[in-house]
Amino acid sequence: MKKNRCASCGGTLVAQKICYDKKVGKRMFSFEDVPALVCSACDEVWMDGKTVEKMEKILHKGLKPTRWARVPIWSLSRAA
Ligand SMILES: [Zn+2]
Repeated sequence: MKKNRCASCGGTLVAQKICYDKKVGKRMFSFEDVPALVCSACDEVWMDGKTVEKMEKILHKGLKPTRWARVPIWSLSRAA
């Protein structure tokens, strides 16, 4: 097996589980525990086709999310 190299800078790719936000239209969908290769030099994220396909399948089927995350919301009318 040859070492994984970043296609944009030639840096070393490290296998990690990442959080990934995917924007579809105006909605944001968040995935966690996404297997990806992250470049240790430029932080570029590389995912294989199967992973991307899996996320698309989840969105397409409208599967129930693992959990709901609260997002922080700031109201400008109450700003200091
Ligand atoms: Zn890189």
